[in-house]
Amino acid sequence: MNTKENLRRLLFDLDNRGYKAYKDILGTYEFPDFTLIIDYVQGDPFAAPSKFRVHIPPTVAGFPAELYRTRSREIALRDYLIREFDQVAREISSHRGTGKSGMIAVTKMGQEILERTSASLINMTPVSTKPILAGNPALQRARPTPSTQEKGIEMRFFVGLPARGRNILGRQAAMMICEDIPAIVDRALRYQNLESEAIKRHVETAEDADYLRQQLAEKQLVAFVANEAILPRRSGIDSRPLEENAIEFQSPESLEVELTCPNRGSIKGMGIPQGITLIVGGGYHGKSTLLNAIELGIYNHIPGDGREFVITNPSAVKIRAEDGRSVAGVDISPFINQLPQDRSTREFSTENASGSTSQATNIMEALEALVLAEKPESSTIPAVLLVDEDTAATNFMIRDRRMQELIAKDHEPITPFIDKVRQLYHDYGVSTILVMGGSGDYFDVADTVIAMENFQALELTAKAKEIASQYSTGRTLEGGETFGVIQARIPVSESLDPSRGRWDVRVKVRDVDEVLFGTEDIDVSAVEQLVSKDQLRAIAAAMVYAKKNYIDGQKTLPQILDAVMQDITEKGLDVITPFPQGDLALFRRFELAAAINRIRTLEVKQSP
Ligand code: ADP
Ligand code: MG
Repeated sequence: MNTKENLRRLLFDLDNRGYKAYKDILGTYEFPDFTLIIDYVQGDPFAAPSKFRVHIPPTVAGFPAELYRTRSREIALRDYLIREFDQVAREISSHRGTGKSGMIAVTKMGQEILERTSASLINMTPVSTKPILAGNPALQRARPTPSTQEKGIEMRFFVGLPARGRNILGRQAAMMICEDIPAIVDRALRYQNLESEAIKRHVETAEDADYLRQQLAEKQLVAFVANEAILPRRSGIDSRPLEENAIEFQSPESLEVELTCPNRGSIKGMGIPQGITLIVGGGYHGKSTLLNAIELGIYNHIPGDGREFVITNPSAVKIRAEDGRSVAGVDISPFINQLPQDRSTREFSTENASGSTSQATNIMEALEALVLAEKPESSTIPAVLLVDEDTAATNFMIRDRRMQELIAKDHEPITPFIDKVRQLYHDYGVSTILVMGGSGDYFDVADTVIAMENFQALELTAKAKEIASQYSTGRTLEGGETFGVIQARIPVSESLDPSRGRWDVRVKVRDVDEVLFGTEDIDVSAVEQLVSKDQLRAIAAAMVYAKKNYIDGQKTLPQILDAVMQDITEKGLDVITPFPQGDLALFRRFELAAAINRIRTLEVKQSP
């Protein structure tokens, strides 16, 4: 068995040798309080950092089982520990040489509480004793089976092994690994050294939010915005709450509902009913801010975020125009027909979609992924579309009386959204929340009209309906009786190729909105509900996993999504990567589909 002292001596011996010699430290070491596992050692001081794990037994970690007795709590506790590790590691780790030398870090965290591979609760069998026990049934039986009540902690993190130039700084490495890491573990991952009230608040907040989300469907709501929520953010690139002059949210009386949750008890706020909801109001009065908060209400938020109790149906998807995107064989015929040059819209493909065709595609792909799912992870409502006029194609949204007169229907390929939104709800149960300050034509099709006025919400449904009957739009309805068919496509296996040159698999996440898949750059900047690079990294891995296991030229995309998501639910996120990674976060089937749909080489067949 290797111990901390063995490792220290090894690092001293490596001092001043070439950087590659660091590979000798790969392996498992028993420290007094925990097990250290070195999974991967970087090739040089500037390369991606080395990958470490610690396993802390329950006796040392000491977290009461009530902090992880439900899945909501467990995910929140793990999230809390990653944040704690992050903070302590920042304080303790210091620059110790060339490149990333001296770095000890976990993955980057944001305002959302996501399930992540960085931290997990584990039933502990010390790794180093496994081989001995494996061959000795008597010993195995003698070991107390770890009770499900008490779990240990696994934390995965990154270490920049220190160097001067390309030479190993062995003593510095020994300091980092044998002194700093134990100090971080002690301060960040032992219950007795943490603020128990803050942890309790973290897990209870997340549990309450999940509980509220589960109630939405039965209350026939698609979203809930709690009174006193803080919706505005500091800036477009800083998603922490606006601090100064933020006006708290207050529900209009007519839409106020009271829900209950296990920890906080009752909570009041605005319930947005199923059906078609318009958010209207003057420019700069807070419409998009409300919709953005609803978009991210699919996730839980950390205490203090302001949006902890902005809760949205988990199948809500933001839809926007995205001109320039590629499209592979999507049936957009509910919205677009008779394109010039007789181009098919039942299997619409393009390298360069327009505003309206891209928005139609985004809707049809969302419906394919969500409505055709056979094993949805959650919710009894198939989907909710969220549309903001700021990012929508005008000619896709509206076509008014005068334009109908000027350009006859048989010269206009587009059936505007206004003429399909009710059919979509009626035929498939898909609700829509729409920010629309620019056209009153939508009053006719809305069930609920919310106005934002000086950042305050009012309900103006009755007034809008009155206006609608007083001033008829005179429009001809162009959408027909039914919405139309949602078609499932079968991806052609060869058209998804993660290989590049000598690598069988080459995927790399560049930023939160771009991923390299083989030789293809996938632009997901229009997929607005992705909040973390770790989600995109997991999506990239899931695409490789899907290609290997399920994309066979037979299965439809919804079936592939079902299979991948079910594997993740049953076996955890680690199932999608060949080696344990500490930088993956859970994503939804919709975002996985969105990435696949944006591969420019994608080819599909339609299912018969
Ligand atoms: P709209 O979509 O109606 O044009 P926005 O939602 O973009 O308006 O909001 C305009 C500005 O007002 C943004 O800078 C936003 O941060 C700020 N804002 C929104 N809601 C609030 C609020 N409740 N309190 C203070 N500022 C807000
Ligand atoms: Mg706006």
